[in-house]
Amino acid sequence: MNPARRLLLANKSWAQERRAIDPEFFARLASGQQPEFLWISCSDSRVPETQLTVTDAGELFVHRNVANLVRADDRNVLCVLQYAIEALKVRHVIVCGHYGCGGVKAAINGAPPGRLSEWLDPVAQIYEQHRAQLDLLSEEERWAKLVELNTVAQVHRLAQTDVIENAWAKYNYPYLHAWVYSLPDGLIQPLLTLSPSGPQKLL
Ligand SMILES: [Zn+2]
Repeated sequence: MNPARRLLLANKSWAQERRAIDPEFFARLASGQQPEFLWISCSDSRVPETQLTVTDAGELFVHRNVANLVRADDRNVLCVLQYAIEALKVRHVIVCGHYGCGGVKAAINGAPPGRLSEWLDPVAQIYEQHRAQLDLLSEEERWAKLVELNTVAQVHRLAQTDVIENAWAKYNYPYLHAWVYSLPDGLIQPLLTLSPSGPQKLL
């Protein structure tokens, strides 16, 4: 079977099952969304946000890109952020990096010149900033540590956006979370939470 056709068939049976379990499910979703979370993660196929957080349609507003970056020159992520905060009024923004991130690895090893290496430049810069410390580690540890540093850096970048500065000036939200997902065991580890009053104790 054509692999794309497999997806369409799977969709049909999923929709039928959902309707059988909850006849109002699609009507409810069609009437609007009120997600509590904005989820920003890597495009990596192994980080399916709704599966690994056991959330349903309507619960996560999502933006994904290579290496889960929040760049001041990326209108895409900034529009997603603005809509999530100002229109949907989400209370939590989660940046979820993942160990084994190919984008982070490429930033360490130097991606071939072109769009991808330009995109990953902020990660390469973080590597350079921490190089003295990172180069003391084994290759695997260095990769994992840069995944963590990169994820935390994106949360700090979020905090510097006008959208978050404005929201923090007016309200007591959103909370900004840096999390990292582990491919080998499926577990998320929280690294940092920022709030209008500063860093928060982890849950
Ligand atoms: Zn990745």
